[in-house]
Amino acid sequence: MKLQEKVRTYLKEKGLPTDIALAFPDVFIVGRKSEVNKRTDIKNLSAVLAGNVIINIPLVSANMLDVTDARMAIALARLGGCGFIPQFDQIESRIAAIKKVKRAESDVIESPITITKDRTLQEARKIMQLESISGLPVVDADNKLLGILTTRDIVHEDNYLKKVGSIMTPMPLITGSPETIPEEAREIFRTKKIEKLPLVDKDGILRGLMTSKDVRKSQNAARDQNGRLIVGAAVGISNPERAMKEIGALLQAGADVILIDTARAFSERVKHLTRMAKKQYNAPIIVGNVDCPEGALMLINAGADGVKVGIGPGSACKTRVETGIGCPQLSAIAECVAIAREYNIPIIADGGIRTDADLSKAICSGAHSVMLGSQFAGVEESPGEKILDGGKIIKIYRGSASIEAQVSRIDQGNLDRIRPSEGVPRRVECSGGLDMVVKEMLGHLRSSMSYAGAFDLEQYRRDVKFKRQSAAGYEEGIPKK
Ligand code: IMP
Repeated sequence: MKLQEKVRTYLKEKGLPTDIALAFPDVFIVGRKSEVNKRTDIKNLSAVLAGNVIINIPLVSANMLDVTDARMAIALARLGGCGFIPQFDQIESRIAAIKKVKRAESDVIESPITITKDRTLQEARKIMQLESISGLPVVDADNKLLGILTTRDIVHEDNYLKKVGSIMTPMPLITGSPETIPEEAREIFRTKKIEKLPLVDKDGILRGLMTSKDVRKSQNAARDQNGRLIVGAAVGISNPERAMKEIGALLQAGADVILIDTARAFSERVKHLTRMAKKQYNAPIIVGNVDCPEGALMLINAGADGVKVGIGPGSACKTRVETGIGCPQLSAIAECVAIAREYNIPIIADGGIRTDADLSKAICSGAHSVMLGSQFAGVEESPGEKILDGGKIIKIYRGSASIEAQVSRIDQGNLDRIRPSEGVPRRVECSGGLDMVVKEMLGHLRSSMSYAGAFDLEQYRRDVKFKRQSAAGYEEGIPKK
């Protein structure tokens, strides 16, 4: 079958037209008789990111300076997704960020706040309140663990001048070694019914702390084979020789997946770089962006383990209005999937997610995962500064090709020439912690899957269809003021 025939076949399977390119609002997902009784029946949201890298939720954060740094990558991997450290940072900073994610034994507080036994209950309470923590390991001057002071020890104590040493729960306590892994800790929390597990070395020196709350939270974390959080790292293509060296250095630092990233990946240069990288390094490599099946096929033939799709849908992007290039995102995803599915290569749908319904539609059109920029730029863990602006707390979200982002890269010593801008800076409202934002998105995704009768993402991608809708039809579904 010819390429265009394959595309037509897939579009028809999906209920999509073959003669016009569509954006997310142009379609709705067709509900089906559903065996899914409740959203919580949908347990598995895992997806292949690229090669052998699996994520437990289908979300990745954009390789943009205002979206992903080590903190964000750690937070997202803890929730089951994957962050991509942007190529716009100097290679040394990218390496440092990767190492930080890899070191972040997400369930271990490496330097817990401690107290000595001669301090008063009043002082202990103040520290606990200020730091929002419910327990303090009690140590001597050499950091040797003497006991622990938790809310349980102090709740009925009203003499605030008493010394910590007289009210703490003293050693011997249940402790773990510094090498304790989350599964072991979980078992200890379950069987011993404790909330905190101090980690001590053979000399009794405190080396860390695990809490039942943190371990519970990161049960779904995306981890590598050694139990460390996963992280991706991007390289640009302007200097292929440099890119090759950077790929080596980023993999050496521990990156699980490399992203060869450019606005225009359907090119001889990218094909060549992908081939070279796949030949030299035995690692999963995602390449993008493209918006057509021919481009996806070229990258797959060059060895890409994942193809990133999206030209112009991004919320801070003006490529389409400045150049006239860029296929509407829903069709771009579906057309690339039509080819990639034959090779079992996952598509990462990049950009243009404005509502949680768009996220569902991106996956339903066949993408394995979705890359988010603006939706993540306003969370607590993103790199931007919080600014009070007209009574609202916002962060600045700069398109990577905006003049503002280009100038900031020059400030960081990255002396690429300034190109005509294809992006804008935006203000995004601060939206709280990443966990809340992701929880809401996944709740809506699960809900969409249950309407469409899909128990997992594979079934959702495979069986669920779209129908076109009129502009009035879309408008009808928007809540009125
Ligand atoms: P969003 O989630 O809609 O905000 O889109 C994020 C995506 O927009 C990124 O992952 C990039 O692919 C794309 N993008 C970021 N900056 C620019 C830009 O300046 N011009 C064009 N596209 C951009």
